[in-house]
Amino acid sequence: MQFATRLDNVETSAIRELFKLLGTPGIISFAGGFPDSAMFDVEGLKEASAKALAEEPGGALQYGATEGYDPLRSQLSSFMKTKGVDVDPSGLIVTTGSQQALDLLGKTMISPGDKVIVEGPTFLATIQCFRLYGAELVSAPIDANGVKTDELEKLIAEHKPKFVYLIPTFGNPSGAMLNLERRKKVLELAVKYQTLVVEDDPYGDLYFGEAPPPSIMALTKDVPGSRELVAHCGSLSKVLSPGLRIGWMIAPAALLAKATMCKQFSDAHTSTFAQATAAQYLKSGRMPGTLANVRKVYGERAAAMGAALKRELGDAIAFEQPGGGLFFWARLTGANGKLADANVFAKKAIEKLVAFVPGAPFFAANPDVSTLRLSFATANVEKIEEGIARLGKAL
Ligand code: PMP
Repeated sequence: MQFATRLDNVETSAIRELFKLLGTPGIISFAGGFPDSAMFDVEGLKEASAKALAEEPGGALQYGATEGYDPLRSQLSSFMKTKGVDVDPSGLIVTTGSQQALDLLGKTMISPGDKVIVEGPTFLATIQCFRLYGAELVSAPIDANGVKTDELEKLIAEHKPKFVYLIPTFGNPSGAMLNLERRKKVLELAVKYQTLVVEDDPYGDLYFGEAPPPSIMALTKDVPGSRELVAHCGSLSKVLSPGLRIGWMIAPAALLAKATMCKQFSDAHTSTFAQATAAQYLKSGRMPGTLANVRKVYGERAAAMGAALKRELGDAIAFEQPGGGLFFWARLTGANGKLADANVFAKKAIEKLVAFVPGAPFFAANPDVSTLRLSFATANVEKIEEGIARLGKAL
């Protein structure tokens, strides 16, 4: 069959092959970015969905507006206010997961051959999504404090990108957090070069100790002329439920209008039942308790994984302890003649019934084969300790 040429640029992810093995009985998986199903607030969501049906069956079950269900847009506007972002309900659209917001950005902004700057490493599905629209991705280096803004400025000046895509808070896969100074610098660069900055923020609420600095969108207040140059993608997936598929995008009005038009042709609107349920949930006042719970449980798991990695793999692995999110990003050092190629290590690990994801596919350019990503979200502390001990043996 002759498929569209836009598919020529995109391969099915290498990771997908690995995921096929995850059904093996007894395997402990640190591979997926799945929240733990045992953490879902089932009671709260039952109540919210029942209320959605009882109070507004017409809204919850009927076709709805492409921009989103108004009561949810209002709740999301209030939710963003608690995070320092002033946005009118009409200044955001509801999307089917934040993944759809990324797709809509690709559709509305990228013509074949356009340059887009992403972090190296960045979210794999973003790499593939933007490539599907013909983007030429330019990879900006990062460290534990996020994207290196001096390098970013050079790349913006050289490549004149259509936009810059960042996951500033507990990046996937890097776990890195862009510090305050660099967040402001990113906004200054946006203004100086009149470049759109896309802030993808599904993990900002998932911190374990100190709260992260304000989002780039929240900081636009401090940098004149920057608000019209930022798009912010949010999601309920990591804190409440990914199956609800509720995300949102805050963006300049002209961009939101185009994205809404594209969404209309794509899915008409996000499930009204899911939106009405999410609206009732946010209204119920349970969210602060839910956030406290996920922060506590995932924080304990992250601490356990960090300690186990040090204990079981010692100086054969290097990593920063993440302050939030779902992932450890690590590098095999090759110390004492141990393995330094994460692809080989992943195969050995599977033999010992433990899985993680090699890091190379997360780079849009110059992949580092010594890197790997471990999720601490899905397995409990006991399983984490057992799994990391198996990793030690595999290495
Ligand atoms: N962006 C990033 C950085 C992610 O890690 C994910 C989920 N893994 C998404 C977007 C998409 O999440 P969702 O569509 O569930 O909101």
